This record gives sequence, C-alpha cells and structure tokens, in this order.
Amino acid sequence: MTFSGSAASPAQFPRDGLPEVAFLGRSNVGKSSLLNALAGVGGLARVSSDPGRTRVVNFFRVQGAERPGGAGRGDLYLVDLPGYGYSKAPRAVREGFEGLAVSYLVERDPLRLCVFIVDARHDPGERDSTLRGFLARHRLPWVVAANKVDALGRGEVKRRVESIAREVGREARDVLPVSAERGDGIEALWNAIRGAAFAPLERGRYAGQRGNDGR
Ligand code: GDP
Repeated sequence: MTFSGSAASPAQFPRDGLPEVAFLGRSNVGKSSLLNALAGVGGLARVSSDPGRTRVVNFFRVQGAERPGGAGRGDLYLVDLPGYGYSKAPRAVREGFEGLAVSYLVERDPLRLCVFIVDARHDPGERDSTLRGFLARHRLPWVVAANKVDALGRGEVKRRVESIAREVGREARDVLPVSAERGDGIEALWNAIRGAAFAPLERGRYAGQRGNDGR
C-alpha cells in the first residue's frame, strides 16, 4: 500500500477509475491505526495522525490485491476522509472538512464501500447517527468497524456489537469487531473491502429498463 496523494478539492481526486473504499469516523476513533493495520495485510505504509492530514482526502493505493474467488489481482484505493467532531476547530473550518467529505461521498463514482469506524467501547454519538442517516439516505453501502475491542472482555464484545448493529449498524452490510492494535478482525475487514471493491456493479437502472420492454 502506498500513499498516492492528498486532495483538498474534488478536482484533485484520482482519475484512473480504480475502485475506492472510504474510511469515515469521529476523530480519535483509530482511523489511522486501522489503515496501518490493513497496510500490514496489503503491503506497507505509515499513516500518521498528523492534524494537517485531517483537512484533506488522502488516497492510499493497494497494489495487486487478490480478487475474491481466485479471479486474479487488481489495484484499489483506500480513501481516508477527514474525521469529524473536532471540538477545537473553528466552526467554519469544521464545515469545510465536512463539505469535502460530503462532495466525495455524494459524487464519487468509483466509491464501492464505506468503512464507518466507531469505538466499540462507547455508544455512538449524535454525529455518528447523523452520518448513518446520511449514508442510508444516499444509498451508500457501508460496514461498521467497531474498533478497540481489545479493551473489552469477551462477553462484552458480542453485547456491544449487537447494540451497535441496532444503531449505526442498521442497514449496514455488516458490523465487524476489530482491533487495530491487536489485529483482531483485520482479515475479515480486508475481505469485506476487496469483496466490495471487485464485485460486479449492480445495474439496477438497466435491469429496470429490461423489465419494461415486455420480455
Ligand atoms: P484517528 O484520529 O481516528 O486517526 O485515530 P488514531 O489512529 O490516531 O488513534 C487514536 C487513539 O486511539 C490512539 O491513542 C491509538 O493508540 C488508540 N487506538 C487506535 N486503535 C486502537 C485499538 O484497536 N485499541 C485500543 N485500545 N486503542 C486504539
């Protein structure tokens, strides 16, 4: 996995059409740590949690990822979207971050899956619920990565995952317990990522048109 570049505006997003999987979550939820843990599976890279990085959309290219079902290999981007919930940032700056993330989510054609990261130890906050509503309204596919499960007891993980599944996990494809620090669930998350990145595109519109032509 190599760092491909940062975009401060949509004009700077890549134009090569490779599939993209976006990472979203409140700041401090472990987004950088999770990207680093995935880099351990897909190659090497360091993702810092330098505050400057949080103002832009960062693209990390994974080269030669295995397609599901032994169908060869392909490249994809892991996309680090600005975190939200910076209480310290001035409001206008905060809204600027969100503006860029919102344009990305709404307009980005190569986007195949969102990885919505939450802290497994806590109930999702209001901003998390807002994001869930946004994803559902825009019909974006997402999985929830419930991070930091290393800090929970065994029995607790199941309970927390069930509770998250009823909140931000409602309508999600899956809720995956993970620990960026200990490595739990990273393989499962990676499988969800490459599965979505390389899945044949749904062609609902065309299917609908076929339905109308009398056959
Ligand atoms: P970001 O702001 O979302 O990019 O979060 P970071 O990756 O910088 O992590 C924020 C804090 O959470 C750091 O102190 C990390 O050490 C901690 N952290 C990240 N992942 C884990 C995890 O899996 N388990 C635990 N216990 N702490 C974690």
